[in-house]
Amino acid sequence: MVDTYTYAYPQLVRDNPRSFATVTDPNVRVAVIGAGFAGAAAVYELRRAGIQNITVYEAREKLGGRADSRYFHDNQGRRYINEMGPMRVPENSKLFWHYLSQLQDADEPQLIFPNPGVVATQIVYRGLRYTWKDEAPQPTDPENPRHVDWEKLQQDIGRFVDSLTFNGDNVGTIAELLQKETLTLIEQGRIHAYWSHFLKQFDDVSFVGALEQFFGDEWGPTEYNMFSTLGVGTGGFGPLFPVCFLELFRLFLWDYQNEYMPSLPMAEIVERLLTLDPAAGQSDDRLSILTETVDYVGLSRHNDNEVDVYSIQPQGETNGLVHRAYDYVIVATPLRSMQIRMNLDAETPPRSYAENSAPVFGGEVNNMVRESLRIPHIMNSSKLFGFLPNKPWNESSWPHHEGDPVKVVLTDTLARQMYFLDPYPDDPTAGTNVLISYNWGDDSVKIMGIQDYDRSQIIDPRSNPDYALKLAYEFGLETMITPSPVADSLKQITLENQNRDLTSVIWQREPMIFGAFKLDYPKQYFYTSQMVYQYHYANAEHPEQSKRVYIAGNNCSYQGGWIEGALQSAVNASAAVLKHLSDQGLATDFRMQELFEPNPFQNVLEDLKAQYILPTAA
Ligand SMILES: Cc1cc2nc3c(=O)[nH]c(=O)nc-3n(C[C@H](O)[C@H](O)[C@H](O)COP(=O)(O)OP(=O)(O)OC[C@H]3O[C@@H](n4cnc5c(N)ncnc54)[C@H](O)[C@@H]3O)c2cc1C
Repeated sequence: MVDTYTYAYPQLVRDNPRSFATVTDPNVRVAVIGAGFAGAAAVYELRRAGIQNITVYEAREKLGGRADSRYFHDNQGRRYINEMGPMRVPENSKLFWHYLSQLQDADEPQLIFPNPGVVATQIVYRGLRYTWKDEAPQPTDPENPRHVDWEKLQQDIGRFVDSLTFNGDNVGTIAELLQKETLTLIEQGRIHAYWSHFLKQFDDVSFVGALEQFFGDEWGPTEYNMFSTLGVGTGGFGPLFPVCFLELFRLFLWDYQNEYMPSLPMAEIVERLLTLDPAAGQSDDRLSILTETVDYVGLSRHNDNEVDVYSIQPQGETNGLVHRAYDYVIVATPLRSMQIRMNLDAETPPRSYAENSAPVFGGEVNNMVRESLRIPHIMNSSKLFGFLPNKPWNESSWPHHEGDPVKVVLTDTLARQMYFLDPYPDDPTAGTNVLISYNWGDDSVKIMGIQDYDRSQIIDPRSNPDYALKLAYEFGLETMITPSPVADSLKQITLENQNRDLTSVIWQREPMIFGAFKLDYPKQYFYTSQMVYQYHYANAEHPEQSKRVYIAGNNCSYQGGWIEGALQSAVNASAAVLKHLSDQGLATDFRMQELFEPNPFQNVLEDLKAQYILPTAA
């Protein structure tokens, strides 16, 4: 990732088998709040360094957080995995593949993800159909005067990306440098100059704003609507238009092209990583995992070296609030839980805790972290999966592109992105699960009402909310295109089997998650940077008492939409704990000092600072 290039995570984590440090004090107590990817990786690194006394708090019954894998089974007992959260992992997610290799053979084959254009894809746009694989989408009815030119759109996007040049470098040359295992000082300087320039240029520019700046009058509503349906081959980008352009720019530079479906379900990866004993190389049950919701985290007013964690124990002996104290706490929950649930953005603690515990980010020195926890924009997103007992491409009417059956549909109707996952491609008797709709932002907000309303009435009194949703997507397609074999295929999901064959998630409505992932709006880079570098509190210049709590999670990274961001933040937070232990003489061989060098883009933050920083008290 361009923002942290000097920190070379793969080299520090993947290419060096030694633990980050060796903890010599057997009594160190650490709490990790949140059992998602970030919490799991933090626990793994702390255990690897020899910390035994770790308590994990997880509010939900299931481990995994947004790594939420659910299953359909057919009547032959075959399993179909539905990834409600993360489902595709770029080849470039180096930490992800590293941690997965701790759980299975590194050469275990991974399946390429059926992205739009990688497999035969149909676009349904303004009532017309186009098919596409590799090359540009082509109309199925070229004579129709309403058909649009996708090839031209793709060329336009190419021109736009090519225009992002500075000092003789462009997206391609910088992406290539970021792939290198080591960088010379000159190469580092080129990356630095390039990204600093664009951080300043685009900090306050939205995605649609950047397109407008480039295309001016050349693009009208048609082009924007087309792009909103196709994206850069990833599906509907319309809801991403208000997001800061830097978020998309990072993706171009990350060169995230090849994406895979890991061979293990995401939830299983998290659970196994969390419980993995690094020394034995296998899972054990020695970790203390509490199914408790943390209500507040505060610095002890009675002991400078302790952090108080207050949690709600649903059915425990106390049947209420429990207090425990730790030497360190890593808060690896979604950002909104940090704010809404745990009040980590508090300047003054809630009254019931004020007597014993001071706010973690209270006082002048922490005021920007505090502020940052409540500002960044979190995307809404939802998914609906269904199970089709028969592969729909066995029907002769099914759309094909040059002989290949369509497996992805992008549409300007309600569903937006559909993926027919076909996990048993060589077995004609197997069925397929289908991601009937994957949508973001406003498209995800749109559907909330239909689910809530239909819970009690309308469409069919026997139908559950997921069935109502399926019908909405199905009708959206079939009222735009007739006949529609794609819409017809969903009729395999019957009222009778609705509970078994449908499952959905609306992430902004999920308990303790409160939204899908962080994608900054313009002018939020500064705030995100405060969260990303909060782990630098372990550096000498910060007050001692601020060195005991670290925040982690994808939302505390520059890669809000990716597991890789969650893992980087976990490496940072666990390294911060180990650094502080090492500085106190309680650990040896600390080898992650490179992570604590100044942020390479500090110069940009210094320039922006005056606009953001809160005045300190007189
Ligand atoms: C729809 C969707 C699609 C995505 N697609 C991809 C993809 O294809 N590829 C990719 O790489 N990434 C993807 N992501 C991003 C990826 O899911 C996240 O980056 C990652 O799973 C976040 O992990 P985390 O540990 O930071 O947070 P989480 O997984 O959310 O874990 C945090 C945990 O904290 C718990 N918690 C919250 N509050 C409390 C509390 N007060 N007390 C105790 N526990 C608490 C929660 O219950 C949760 O289990 C996607 C995300 C979504 C939502």
